[in-house]
Amino acid sequence: MEVRIQTLTPLWTGGVQAGKVDRIHETGILGSMRWWYEAIVRGLGGECCDPSHTECAFTEEKYLKSQAVDKRQKLHDAGLCDVCQVLGATGWKRRLRLAIQDSTRHDPSIEDRLQANRSYVGANGRSRTPIWYFPKELNYKPCSGELSIGVQSLSNDFDPKVIAGLVQFIADWAGMGARAQMGFGVVQLANGRVDTRPLYNYMQSVAGSHPYFKLPTLQNIFLARILPKDERQFDEKETFNLKYDLRRLFALSVDDTELRHFVMGTTRGTRIAAKVKMSRPYNGGKEMRVWGWIPKELPNAKNFKNRNDVVQAIHQHLTNNYTVQVWREMDSARDTVVPNNNDVMTFLRTLLKLEEDRHA
Ligand SMILES: [Zn+2]
Repeated sequence: MEVRIQTLTPLWTGGVQAGKVDRIHETGILGSMRWWYEAIVRGLGGECCDPSHTECAFTEEKYLKSQAVDKRQKLHDAGLCDVCQVLGATGWKRRLRLAIQDSTRHDPSIEDRLQANRSYVGANGRSRTPIWYFPKELNYKPCSGELSIGVQSLSNDFDPKVIAGLVQFIADWAGMGARAQMGFGVVQLANGRVDTRPLYNYMQSVAGSHPYFKLPTLQNIFLARILPKDERQFDEKETFNLKYDLRRLFALSVDDTELRHFVMGTTRGTRIAAKVKMSRPYNGGKEMRVWGWIPKELPNAKNFKNRNDVVQAIHQHLTNNYTVQVWREMDSARDTVVPNNNDVMTFLRTLLKLEEDRHA
C-alpha cells in the first residue's frame, strides 16, 4: 500500500537537533498518526492508554494465561490497549512499517522570523509585538513537495488500508508531522482520495464504553476551515495574528490566565502544548484550518465556566472575522454538517466523508 502526499504547507518532522528539520523523519509522521488514531479510538470508547502517564507493556506470560478467545482481548489481557496493539509498545512491535520516499525540499519561503501585526501592553507597561522564530539556514527549514508513504503490514491480521485511511483523514482535517500549531503539515493526496472505509470498519471493531475526560477524543475535538471574508488573500502573518487574537480572548482577566495557558499553551514554567492549532494559508492564500480539542475538565476561570464557553468564544471569533466554511464538532449546534449529533459513529462516518451524499 502506497500513499503519495503533497504538502500544502511545509512539513515539520523534527530532526536530530531540536528546532531544526534536517530531513523528513518517520517518527514525526508516526507521531501525528498515533495522535489521531488515539483520538478516534478514545472517541469510540475503545481502550487507549495515556502515554504521558502509564505506557502499555506486553507481558508474554499474561498473554499465554489469558482465557480470552478473541485475539484483541488476549492482547488487552497481556497489557496492550487498542492503540498499542497496532502502533507498538514496550515489548510489542508495531504491526506496520512505513517506507518513506522523500522528494521534498527545504522550503526557502519559510521566514526565520515572523512578527504578528499586533501589539499589546506587557506587564511592564511597554508595548510588545509577538515574534515567532524559525530556522535560519535553508538546510534546517521545514520541507515542501512530494512524499511517498509506503505502508506495509507486519501482521496478517492488520490491513495497511486502515493507515492509508488515517492519512486521508489527516489530509482532510488536520496536519501531519510536528508543530501543527505553527501551521505546518497540511497535505493533500497526490493521486486522489484513498478509501476510508477500511479505517471505519476497523474502528467499529474497537468500539467500547471507556469514557475519557482529560484527553483528546472525537467527543471533544473541533475541526474548521476558514476563508477570508472579502476577496483578499491571507498572508503568512494571518496564522500568527489569529494565534495572537485567540490568545487574547482568554486574557480578559488575570483569573483566566491558567485557562489561557491550558488552551493556548505556554512555554513559561511547566510547558503546556497549545490545544488549538491553525494552519498557514494554503490554496493560494484562500483557505486556512483551525482545529483543536477542549476537554470537559478545565482549570477554573472567571469568564469561561465550562468547555462550551471556551469553544463558543473561539467559534464566535472565527465567525466574526472570517467565513467559516465548515465547523465539525460533536453534540453541538455549531456543527455545519450534522448539528446536535451525539452519535460518534455518525460523526466519524461524516468526517471520513462516507456519507457525503446524505448530508450534502
Ligand atoms: Zn497503550
